[in-house]
Amino acid sequence: MVNILGVKFHRVTMEQALEKVDSLMKEPGPQLIVTANTEMVMMANQDPLLFEIIRRSALVVPDGIGIVWASRILNCPLEERVPGVELMDKLLERSAEKGWRVFLLGAKPGIADQAAENAKKKYAKLNVVGTYHGYFTKEEEQELISRIKAAKPDLLFLALGVPKQEKWAAANLAKLGIPLAMGVGGSFEILAGTTKRAPKWMCRSGLEWLYRLIKEPWRIGRMMALPQFAILIMLEKMIVKGDLKDA
Ligand code: UDP
Repeated sequence: MVNILGVKFHRVTMEQALEKVDSLMKEPGPQLIVTANTEMVMMANQDPLLFEIIRRSALVVPDGIGIVWASRILNCPLEERVPGVELMDKLLERSAEKGWRVFLLGAKPGIADQAAENAKKKYAKLNVVGTYHGYFTKEEEQELISRIKAAKPDLLFLALGVPKQEKWAAANLAKLGIPLAMGVGGSFEILAGTTKRAPKWMCRSGLEWLYRLIKEPWRIGRMMALPQFAILIMLEKMIVKGDLKDA
């Protein structure tokens, strides 16, 4: 594990993350996969419930380049980014191969349906057993819960944003009897085709965050956590003089 400001990341490549999911599927649930970026690490440091949920999660992978950068600064390098949107896509492929039943919960009405349709076009054998939008009221939540129970998914993707998706999972997975869930933020829009991902060269150069900032300037407020994150990492580096931070 690699400890970034208290949040412990699994040291896995994308391929190893997929292998881990295979083994998690065989274990009794519920289990949560977290793909965390710097904003989430900063948020977790101010939100004890979110921090605890991440601590108990079965798999925590670095969604953003900032986490990989911090791991290098702290002399305990994470291998590579494991972006949530890519992990979700590979898990959809895996689900089609293995016959895992998938449920998509989140985003604005219509988006999860479109994402499901596109995923089924891509992976013909994929069994999407249900979708639901992410702006449900307390009353609708009962209907949502009944639908999920009836659909009996093996894998639930939650696109409700951080920390809502993690908190909803923590509060509901056990009673829903779902073995495995993963928070995927804005990934349904990408799968549905309503939002585009950064060009490959930007992803490769660690500039995906800049692309998102240009496309969605309202993110600047949330990204203000980034300089604070960098300062905290540098302070930690100075204080521990670059000692290994393996937890
Ligand atoms: N969302 C939702 N319900 C809410 C708030 C947000 O379904 O009450 C959805 C929103 O439509 C979007 C996703 O959650 O699809 C959040 O995307 P974002 O890119 O902000 O994710 P994050 O950066 O938090 O991972």
